[in-house]
Amino acid sequence: MHALRFYEPGRVAVVDVPEPHAGPGEVVLKLHATGLCNSDVRVYLGEKKAAAGVIPGHELSGEVAEVGQGADARVGEVIGLCPILCCGRCSFCRDGFRNRCPSRKTLGYDLDGGIAEYVRVPRELVAMGHLLPMDPATPAHLRALLEPFACVLNSIESLQVSAGNAMAIVGGGPMGLLHLIAARAWGAGPIMVVEPDAGRRAVALELGADAVAAPEEALTLGRDLTGGELFPAVAVAVGFAEAIPLALDLARRLGWVNLFAGFPPSSSHVLDLNRVHYDEVRIFGTQNAPFHLYGKAARLIPRLPALDRVVTNRYTLANAAEAYTARLGKDGLKSAVLM
Ligand SMILES: [Zn+2]
Ligand SMILES: [Zn+2]
Repeated sequence: MHALRFYEPGRVAVVDVPEPHAGPGEVVLKLHATGLCNSDVRVYLGEKKAAAGVIPGHELSGEVAEVGQGADARVGEVIGLCPILCCGRCSFCRDGFRNRCPSRKTLGYDLDGGIAEYVRVPRELVAMGHLLPMDPATPAHLRALLEPFACVLNSIESLQVSAGNAMAIVGGGPMGLLHLIAARAWGAGPIMVVEPDAGRRAVALELGADAVAAPEEALTLGRDLTGGELFPAVAVAVGFAEAIPLALDLARRLGWVNLFAGFPPSSSHVLDLNRVHYDEVRIFGTQNAPFHLYGKAARLIPRLPALDRVVTNRYTLANAAEAYTARLGKDGLKSAVLM
């Protein structure tokens, strides 16, 4: 079969590889679509680690093609997947935070993922129930949003976003826009998206932002929008430390600031500690999502047609390497490889 392999930073290629088969407890999926994540691009840039030679792709959707002995799956079933393998025994796993398991492995980084015609789903992952049935009527490129949308739901819920509460989203790229769609669905508002690119600001307005702002005007506009109080929830959906001072300024007293995006290694920021003490601003991060949010995402995706606006770039498997270079040029929003 054809698959994309990651060899080293700057080098990926579509190659012929042996087709996988399902051993006991395993499942083989025929892939329909796999999303390209900014973290995949960070691996390509050498900012994040992945195994040399691995097939990338952790945002995958497909159907069950082969069921190994004893695996709980049905051939032809349309599924999305939580790509995390974990021990199931540590305190994080027991508390429901499989994404924080110290022995976590992830499909697409440590084990072969979804930029391929087929993928073998390891026994542990099948046994933990990480294959989620999805509505076959939902287009494949939207089903492939299961993992990123679960991550966004983790951010939204951790920020305690709720109906009638204002929210600021710093970064109007694909993940910022997924925050906007989710926050709208939660009934939050007013919502402001901060984004330097005018084209992306226009998409944010189209998707229901109450206001959009270039970074330099964000604080003034944010004050106008919130009666001077600023925002109880601020999501940072861009991975540059330069965005942090603004994100903190946008938080109101008792506000929550989530560092949702990953940062380049050794990024740092000097913090005015009294924002934390006297203003009780709470700064935290989220990465991936506890498993229950994958179920919630699987149920929500078919009901959010606006998600379609976010997947702007679609590639065939033969052209999958181009998906990386297009992302480096920040061309479009989210990319998906359609098999
Ligand atoms: Zn992702
Ligand atoms: Zn664990």
